Amino acid sequence: MTAPTGRLPGHPPRSRPVPTDPAVDALVAALPKVSLHCHLIGAVSPQTVVELAAKHGVRPERGAADLYDHDSYEDLGEFLRVLDVVGSVIRDVEDFHRVTYESLTAGGADHNVVYREIQLSPPGHPGVPYPRILEGVVAGLRDARADTGIEARLVIGINRERSGAEAVELVEQVVEHRIDEVVGIGLDYAEVNGPPGRFVEAYQLAGRAGLGRTAHSESGPPGHIRTLLDELGCSRVDHGYHVVDDPELTARCVAEGVPFNCTPVSSDIGRYSGSGDGTHARIRQMVDAGLRVTIDSDDPPMFGTDPTHDLRVLAHALGYRRDELASFTWNAIDACWLDETGKASLRARAEAMVAATPDAPPPPPSDPTEETPR
Ligand SMILES: [Zn+2]
Repeated sequence: MTAPTGRLPGHPPRSRPVPTDPAVDALVAALPKVSLHCHLIGAVSPQTVVELAAKHGVRPERGAADLYDHDSYEDLGEFLRVLDVVGSVIRDVEDFHRVTYESLTAGGADHNVVYREIQLSPPGHPGVPYPRILEGVVAGLRDARADTGIEARLVIGINRERSGAEAVELVEQVVEHRIDEVVGIGLDYAEVNGPPGRFVEAYQLAGRAGLGRTAHSESGPPGHIRTLLDELGCSRVDHGYHVVDDPELTARCVAEGVPFNCTPVSSDIGRYSGSGDGTHARIRQMVDAGLRVTIDSDDPPMFGTDPTHDLRVLAHALGYRRDELASFTWNAIDACWLDETGKASLRARAEAMVAATPDAPPPPPSDPTEETPR
């Protein structure tokens, strides 16, 4: 989960409208997307949350219209509290089926997402047995594929605010109830409360079971990224914006081709990828350094974004056009945890879609006397 910090006094509002440009809009909508950083709990539409709350007799403090008003998230605690509300109303098999199906169709295939590794957080659904979560999610995943062609797998998220022992217990459950759809584990919630070194044992267990390993590092120092690579055995990193603060680590990650799953809109709101100024400066630095970046939308409705919009903001802020934007998809196909046959078919499908997508004209030269468009 992305973790917005407190709003700074005098700082402009966090919502950043981008200019309307029909050619850019057509381009970003048509491009195929491969999604490696999208949380199921963060991908539930406000209307669905309200309906599930009513079904279970829960009365949320906010209605559908302002449930996800991210300008009102005062701090990380506020964000996580909303997240907890959402997680607490997804309870039975039917609920998990519904949220999974909706996130993969309206929140995925409708944006030309062709493949997603969903970040699923069992600790976010207290009291719900892991096998029940899996039953609903897998049913939703299969129905979404049957109706739209989207492929999806699951990455099981450890809540890093809990103990290392609880993380081991979760991985033991994942191994005990092993299914093909579960391809790896992740680590999320507030990094400041859960340094990665706490989870070495859980990650080693996952590694021995042949599971892929990733973890969030958004607010932490570059040293956390070293821990992910060297002690947790991660083959990719979620966010990882602080890698560029450390030239030696950056050079290493370039040489090793470590993928970084970045989320422009949510991280800009949380002030991790560009100081909340809409410049997405760290993502540009990472791309320019030669790091292997993928783009996704994290908790899309919670941050007023979607898979298309995250590419749109990069097109406007960084001037990226078809080939630069498509490179995020090629990186994600290389980084995903499908086998080589699966990757090859995904690549062929995406290549055909990119070839059928006309490029948008390059952005006009910027006038240094003007402010950066927002
Ligand atoms: Zn996240």
